[in-house]
Amino acid sequence: MTATPTHALPLLLEEVEVRRVDRISPSFVRLQLGSPALADLGVDGEWWDQRFKLIVPHVPGGPLPRFEAADADWYAAWLERPVEERGVMRTYTIREVVGEGADTRIVVDIVLHEDGEMGPGAAWAAAAQVGDRAVVLAPRRGQQFGGIEFVPGTASRVLLAGDETAVPAITAILAQLSPDARGAAFLEVPMIGDILSVVHPEGVQIVWLPREGAPLGSRLHPAVLEHLGLGAVAEAAAAQVADDEVDPDLWETPTYSSSGEPVLDPVVLREADVRDGLYLWIAGESRVVTGLRRALVKDHGFDRRQVAFMGYWRQGVAMKS
Ligand SMILES: Cc1cc2nc3c(=O)[nH]c(=O)nc-3n(C[C@H](O)[C@H](O)[C@H](O)COP(=O)(O)OP(=O)(O)OC[C@H]3O[C@@H](n4cnc5c(N)ncnc54)[C@H](O)[C@@H]3O)c2cc1C
Repeated sequence: MTATPTHALPLLLEEVEVRRVDRISPSFVRLQLGSPALADLGVDGEWWDQRFKLIVPHVPGGPLPRFEAADADWYAAWLERPVEERGVMRTYTIREVVGEGADTRIVVDIVLHEDGEMGPGAAWAAAAQVGDRAVVLAPRRGQQFGGIEFVPGTASRVLLAGDETAVPAITAILAQLSPDARGAAFLEVPMIGDILSVVHPEGVQIVWLPREGAPLGSRLHPAVLEHLGLGAVAEAAAAQVADDEVDPDLWETPTYSSSGEPVLDPVVLREADVRDGLYLWIAGESRVVTGLRRALVKDHGFDRRQVAFMGYWRQGVAMKS
């Protein structure tokens, strides 16, 4: 097999340096990650909720794998190496791209886990200092990468809802919506101090829901149902989803279904006659998102064409790889 320099891969697989660290709230660390190679970072159109991968050492200060001569099989080869050498890969959202050319930087907001038991991603972010290094897997300008799920089509209103892990995506989407967009965003966060200032269109209502020790989803679930006029008090019990009902890989969008439901082609999506002209984008802990999906799609008959439900993490379960 001939090794291909990483610049020939259809994506960026590049070592980056932490250029700036800001503790923006008790639960969020904001990092700026830079490398001259990010001059080639880019997507066709808006970034919306663009996800990317970060490879960090398995423990802060541990070794970082190198990919200079990666070929198309780099991922399988990387997985075969012991975790102590290869580090771990985690998924995050590009909150913003700043700078340009060789000074392009990815801004990422990483949650420090509420219970203090952090996985390798959160632990790395908590300890991060300027000059630390990681590897990003991100879109290369001019190439298909995927990873954008916000597709409102012709909807005239949006409803965005999520927990702290979805705050970077929701706030990124809000900042990119057209000034005449209408709708609402519900953001459940660990505490009042995590309420961030947000750039958003005037017609989109922003509702912060600090848990302050209450169970995950206990504020988000009723707030979303109440907003939609769906009897929040009675439905709040639906947040109690049994273990075997939670899909650990929950990913239900109009064009992808982790449970194997029929998916739709994009043309059908554009032409969909969506209920109330509404598009719903909901992400966060899998049990909470499963509860909202059950309430909205199964109990209240929202059409799959107008909703995206994404399990961003699962309580008690580490991400794979
Ligand atoms: C498309 C997508 C975009 C995402 N964007 C972001 C983002 O921008 N910022 C961000 O912080 N996260 C984001 N996430 C979520 C993030 O990938 C997970 O939280 C991931 O598990 C963190 O990895 P870790 O190494 O810290 O913990 P892991 O090793 O995966 O898990 C270790 C333990 O920590 C628990 N845990 C994981 N996350 C949390 C949490 N947030 N709070 C409390 N306990 C937790 C797990 O249940 C497990 O018990 C995103 C996920 C997806 C799929």
